[in-house]
Amino acid sequence: MAATTFRALWLDKGDAGFSASVRSLDAGELPDADVLVELEYSTLNYKDALAITNRGPVVRSFPMIAGIDGAGRVLESRHPRWKAGDRVIHNGWGVGETRWGCLAGLARLRGDELVALPEPLTARQAMGIGTAGYTAMLCVLALEEHGVEPGDGEVLVTGASGGVGSVAVALLGALGYRVTASSGKPDAADYLQQLGASEVIDRAELAKPGKPLQKERWRAVVDAVGSQTLVNALAQTRYGGVVAACGLAQGGDLPGTVMPFILRGVTLAGVDSVMAPLQRRERAWQRLARDLDLGKLESMLEEITLDQAVDKAAELLAGRVTGRVVVALQ
Ligand code: NDP
Repeated sequence: MAATTFRALWLDKGDAGFSASVRSLDAGELPDADVLVELEYSTLNYKDALAITNRGPVVRSFPMIAGIDGAGRVLESRHPRWKAGDRVIHNGWGVGETRWGCLAGLARLRGDELVALPEPLTARQAMGIGTAGYTAMLCVLALEEHGVEPGDGEVLVTGASGGVGSVAVALLGALGYRVTASSGKPDAADYLQQLGASEVIDRAELAKPGKPLQKERWRAVVDAVGSQTLVNALAQTRYGGVVAACGLAQGGDLPGTVMPFILRGVTLAGVDSVMAPLQRRERAWQRLARDLDLGKLESMLEEITLDQAVDKAAELLAGRVTGRVVVALQ
């Protein structure tokens, strides 16, 4: 084994309150799991930002190493699928919430929960995608499974300049869909058009209460925002359309009516990345490796160090981050 000490983003809560700081640990302190991974990159997802800033009940036990996602190289394995030197990705499964996570130089992870890094992706690119991008791909798969095809009509992406939204716009654009991006950042229009949006609309148009059925516009929707935005997106979805709901950046409520479902046959497809079965993850990652333009991925990325992660998490929750943040760990 190479490194025995490593740095990690350590979250703690006690009599003195909550703290998030970088500290050194010894490999021997890691709780047991069958694969030891030297992590090269992690990332900041929305959920990581909630955990690191102690907003929202993400972390279930303290102390915790933050980070739901990691990518790197297997150092040791007792799992039959993995051997030293294999390159792997980890997303979700409660890591960084109930078990020590991946904003760290080393992690012990469960072999059953790892996905092989698909060619031609590097660990940095995989974390540029991260849970946000892999969730965007799960949304695209949901649309495809409901029969949505390029050329069928406009696809709306909400929260478009965020992590899920940016990757969804780039993927759908590359696959030939006509994408309308909804964003609250006026200066993100060029960025979204370069990623693949044909049109950019102000998210304020979708944020306020509207009629239960509105002018039919979207063949499909990828929604990272929830709440009133999702309700309006449903109300504007064309007859027989499908809406993939994966997020709650505006809110976790759904203050709407059943009208789009019972009068227009609209489908609301829920998308979860955290406990998605391994086969579905592998399919999503294969498709990401095939369909995502890596130049466009690079244009969404900002690279930071572990020491910058606490400040960046607060910026992300304040809505000041465009695209995806990768965290270099070695
Ligand atoms: P980001 O913070 O990167 O992006 C969220 C985007 O939503 C922002 O960039 C902003 O885009 C928009 N937004 C922020 N606040 C509001 C608001 N009050 N009203 C309307 N829009 C808003 O987060 P991610 O992309 O990483 O995640 C997006 C959502 O998806 C989160 O809720 C997250 O928890 C969820 N998620 C769910 C997963 C699952 O398994 N189901 C997996 C991954 C994420 P803009 O400025 O362009 O409008």
